[in-house]
Amino acid sequence: MSNDDKPSTPADFERLEQDRLIGENLRKIGRKILVMSGKGGVGKSTVAAYLALRLSARGHRVGLLDVDLHGPSIPHLMDLQGGFEMEGEGVVRPCAFSENLRVASLEMLVGDRDAAVIWRGPLKISAIRQFISDITWGELDFLIADSPPGTGDEPLTVAQTIPEAEALVVTTPQEISLADVRKSINFCRQVGMKILGVVENMSGFNCPHCGKKINLFGEGGGERLSKTMKVPLLGQIPIEPKMVELADNGKLDALLAMDELEVNHAYDRLIDAVLKGNA
Ligand code: ADP
Repeated sequence: MSNDDKPSTPADFERLEQDRLIGENLRKIGRKILVMSGKGGVGKSTVAAYLALRLSARGHRVGLLDVDLHGPSIPHLMDLQGGFEMEGEGVVRPCAFSENLRVASLEMLVGDRDAAVIWRGPLKISAIRQFISDITWGELDFLIADSPPGTGDEPLTVAQTIPEAEALVVTTPQEISLADVRKSINFCRQVGMKILGVVENMSGFNCPHCGKKINLFGEGGGERLSKTMKVPLLGQIPIEPKMVELADNGKLDALLAMDELEVNHAYDRLIDAVLKGNA
């Protein structure tokens, strides 16, 4: 835009129109949660997807937005074959997974799961803004966004496009993961994004034979992080082999019915803490 900030070029007007559409869509959505992590492989996408599944199973209306543009894994976790849904002229709806859960991912546009997306910043920023402006999410209680690890263009674009977004930062108990999470927390503070809290994933393994908890990746990492960085520790999710198996087979939703698993109790406590985080 020009120096006096008045729109003057067609691109300025286009951007203003997009801002208007973004505002219109976001007003219909209750809470917006950005799931972040310092490192890859800590279970961030799994937390985003399972949180969305479990919230929707509790009756909340949920949208799941995959902004991990280079490594979208949400469609795989839930075996989503469908793409965006066209409803009348110009109305694009996210893919319906169930009555209460709709999903949008770049993979739905690219089609080929093995295709490499080679995009620089401006393209990524534009794609994420369009995911929010051009897709009709409708009335939702939650929009959960899965961002790639680190503090790059994707979380920054979400922070700037959705000023009321709350960050849920996923870590594992080891120091190597915690060190990068501290960066994620500082990133949130720098860009003024509210921090909902930290989730310690892969937080011990309950031995199926003796029932004892084995802290495979160390103990107390999440608690130490919560104290030193002054952020709430919202949950500790144990290692659950069934979760890996179901996620690998695109059946993560099948875990919902396995009430006997401790991982589900841990997720319920996490959800209670997330719901309280609104107070
Ligand atoms: P990220 O998004 O951080 O790269 P993913 O969500 O892709 O990580 O998870 C990495 C791997 O860890 C996957 O195989 C996933 O099934 C597994 N995983 C995630 N959370 C758990 C858990 N609580 N217990 C066991 N395996 C898990």
